Amino acid sequence: MADYYDLLGVSRDADADTLKRSYRRLARQYHPDINKDPGAEDKFKEIGRAYEVLSDPQTRARYDQFGEAGLGGAAGMPDMGDMGGFADLFETFFSGFGGGMGGPGASAGARRRGPRQGDDLRFDLTISFSEAVFGKEKEIQIRHLETCSSCSGSGAKSGSGPTSCGTCGGAGQVRRATRTPFGSFTQVAACPTCEGTGQVIADPCSACGGQGLQQVRKKLRINIPAGVDTGTRLRVANEGNAGQRGGPAGDLYVFLTVQSHPQLRRDGINIHSEVTVNYLQAILGDTIEVETVDGPEQLEIPAGTQPGAVLTLSGKGVPKLGNPVARGNHLIAIKVQLPTKLNREERELLEQLAGHHTAKGHQHPHKSGLFGGLFG
Ligand SMILES: [Zn+2]
Ligand SMILES: [Zn+2]
Repeated sequence: MADYYDLLGVSRDADADTLKRSYRRLARQYHPDINKDPGAEDKFKEIGRAYEVLSDPQTRARYDQFGEAGLGGAAGMPDMGDMGGFADLFETFFSGFGGGMGGPGASAGARRRGPRQGDDLRFDLTISFSEAVFGKEKEIQIRHLETCSSCSGSGAKSGSGPTSCGTCGGAGQVRRATRTPFGSFTQVAACPTCEGTGQVIADPCSACGGQGLQQVRKKLRINIPAGVDTGTRLRVANEGNAGQRGGPAGDLYVFLTVQSHPQLRRDGINIHSEVTVNYLQAILGDTIEVETVDGPEQLEIPAGTQPGAVLTLSGKGVPKLGNPVARGNHLIAIKVQLPTKLNREERELLEQLAGHHTAKGHQHPHKSGLFGGLFG
């Protein structure tokens, strides 16, 4: 995977405007509707992803520090991937840093003392077949951590403030002598009492127990774009858990599951269904009504339609995600029903017809014998 800055042709310290201008220029150049070169569509997607990541200061910071690994899979853009264990990844990345990976160092302590980003959260949402096709604004109710309103996130009871930690004397770090076969040396680690903050809260806020965060139920209206499918995830910025000590909030990721439809089946942007016609409609042609995502539509069965034929209603499929003007097709497989019983009149007409065929010179000894016997 190419470097995102290289992809967008900008330097690592490019500002938001430069990023945007460069992205727009490249997006126009590689847009699959304009650029028919093989590989243009992939390039277009890569550019989109690079911009998605770099245009958001939070994800840009993660990318600068950890590369792609810091993003925990595709960021932002709806995608089809399985993103299970997403919150866990960030948990490991950000909170794990002060502990296991800290090593000898001031950097571990410094990291714990600084602002801490809130966790990203996952919300699973099931939507109907037609909501996925045409999009819908939905209200969801989530639970996340918000900055405590009683103490404004400080964790201290109002009127009081944090005090210097007694264990580390406010340094946030403790020194430990470690003995190894190569001699003993001193390691610096984050203070266990204050978790490296250098401060403790003598009189904790009763609303949040000193955490500075409180669990809150919240209603959110989210806009489901047309063309989503099972496995699409949507990012709602800053609706994850609140950060601590002034850190930014995490994001909420909505993972979609789409219900099936009794008659229609989805295959990407195309819809498939089946319809049964009788043998006369197949032979002579007819116009019938079929169920589509837009409601009932007229379908012309051309004369001479064969069993298993697939007829197309153009543009009656699913809007393309991100470009809803473009729609797929509705493909209808034709089943032909043959009668199991004939009444006398039908039988006579069909036998006449069969007689015509044999009279015209078809060499069918059995049939011509039979019909010869009946009509002869
Ligand atoms: Zn509080
Ligand atoms: Zn301490």
